[in-house]
Amino acid sequence: MAVRVLVASRNAKKLKELRRILDEAGVAGIDLVGLADVPPYEEAPETGATFEENAIAKARDGAVATGLPCVADDSGIEVDALNGMPGVLSARWSGRHGDDAANNALLLGQLGDVPDERRGAAFVSTCALVLPDGTTTVVRGEWRGTIAREPAGDGGFGYDPLFLPEGGTGSAAELTPAEKDAVSHRGRALTQLIPALAALA
Ligand code: IMP
Repeated sequence: MAVRVLVASRNAKKLKELRRILDEAGVAGIDLVGLADVPPYEEAPETGATFEENAIAKARDGAVATGLPCVADDSGIEVDALNGMPGVLSARWSGRHGDDAANNALLLGQLGDVPDERRGAAFVSTCALVLPDGTTTVVRGEWRGTIAREPAGDGGFGYDPLFLPEGGTGSAAELTPAEKDAVSHRGRALTQLIPALAALA
């Protein structure tokens, strides 16, 4: 019988991405379920100082509430010229949670005088797997690039229109979803979780 694993997210894309990565790795016997598939429980606000703390807290809450192994992720962008910020504050950098246009405009303004050679940045994704007995696995994926001087592309979300991935020719918002998944911080982190998930199956 398949082992049920909770992905503590309402984002159907995250569930699909993990499914695809497990399938590609040949891991069978795992039935991924999302927050919509389990009885509701109280989700604590993300107050951690690091991506790791936030991902572990979310995964622990899910495992305790449901009794299922639980995967959670926390992600954001670390900009070198801002000493690693916005970091865990990426989603609300402009002051309003999830206002991508305002977040991007603020970041562009802040970097207005920063020369090309100091516009480095990385998307970071930390994923945690917490088992009902408390066993915890944490992994981190990074995707390096630079911050553009103007937005380009209308795919993706968040800071994608400003992020020029290393070795690429345009912004992350100009990649197809499949191209982005193949190289992104989230893909890199989830791939590292495969051995721990395979051990459950
Ligand atoms: P969360 O971990 O899904 O809450 O994402 C936190 C924030 O980081 C998002 O709101 C985005 O602003 C930013 N972010 C995380 N991953 C990406 C990405 O792949 N592209 C663009 N922005 C991202």
